[in-house]
Parts: sequence; C-alpha cells; structure tokens
Amino acid sequence: MIAKAVEQLMEQRKEKFMIPAELVANVLENNNLEHAFLVLTKVRYAKIPVLDSKQHFKGLLSLSMITETMLGLNGIDPSNLTKHTVADVMEKDVHTIQKPFKLEDILHILVDENFVVVVDEQEIFTGIITRRELLKSVNHMAHEIGNNYEIKPLIEKADSIRSN
Ligand code: AMP
Repeated sequence: MIAKAVEQLMEQRKEKFMIPAELVANVLENNNLEHAFLVLTKVRYAKIPVLDSKQHFKGLLSLSMITETMLGLNGIDPSNLTKHTVADVMEKDVHTIQKPFKLEDILHILVDENFVVVVDEQEIFTGIITRRELLKSVNHMAHEIGNNYEIKPLIEKADSIRSN
C-alpha cells in the first residue's frame, strides 16, 4: 500500500498527470498503413493510440508493427502498406484505466509501459498518463513532503520504546 502522505501529495496533482485526448496524436483503425507510417514518422512518438471514428479506444500502433508488413522476399516493399489497415497490425490487448484512477494502479502499469491509456465507461478515449508526467509529480511530491509532513525514521521510535 502507498503511504498516506505520498498519496495525498500526489493526489493534489492528479489532474496534471493526464494528457487530454485532444493533445494526443492518434490514428484511426481503418487508416491504411501508409498514412499511419507518415503520422508516426511526423509525430516522432514510439507508440500512439488507435481510435475508431466515434473516438472509442481500439489499440496501440508503433512503427515496428508497420515495418513488419513492409518486409518482402526481396527486402523492403512499401507497396504493401496501402493494402493493409491499422486494425490488421495494431496491438489489441491493451491495459486501460478509467477515472477515478488509483495511483497504485498507474504505478504498477508504468513499471512496464511508457504510458497508460485512460477511457470512460463507454470506452471513449480520454487521454494518456505518461511516465514523464507522473515523474514530474513524483519530483514535486519529493520536494514538498518535508514541507507538509514531519518524517522521522521508525527505528528511532523503536529505540525510544526500548530505553523506557
Ligand atoms: P514520455 O513519458 O513523455 O516519454 O511519453 C511516453 C510515450 O507516451 C511516448 O513514447 C509516446 O508513445 C506516448 N506519448 C506521449 N505524449 C504523446 C502525445 N502527445 N501523443 C501521442 N503519444 C504520446
């Protein structure tokens, strides 16, 4: 379990964790791979969310998922890109979270992933929480905790009980 002091300080910045959907680069599941390739190259993010035309979250797409399709018998063949859609190659089994999210859940997911996807009850894409944004809040908490709480080592307490 996360210490109360940490949770309370992180809670103050909870709204800042999430990058809202309108600021997150995405592709549509029925876009062809040529289009997706251009988007990923332009935005320079390793992986981006895939949505449907009604903003539902569908999966994640990275450049390596696309380049796999380009591998032909005689090397790279980009002509395959227009024959496939994002839905054909995207990662589908993706862990998502909903608001109100628990800090503990986010921390667990971000150990293995660069970001976590936030959706609403209807699976509408709401935004992402990245390691970077979360680390900014951890940094803030690490600086503020001494101003808000008196932190003493438990060992001191044990020693004083023993000496009484
Ligand atoms: P960061 O922690 O900022 O390095 O972001 C981690 C990952 O989150 C990036 O590699 C991208 O896959 C994704 N990401 C961050 N910001 C955006 C954004 N504005 N649009 C799309 N994906 C993003």
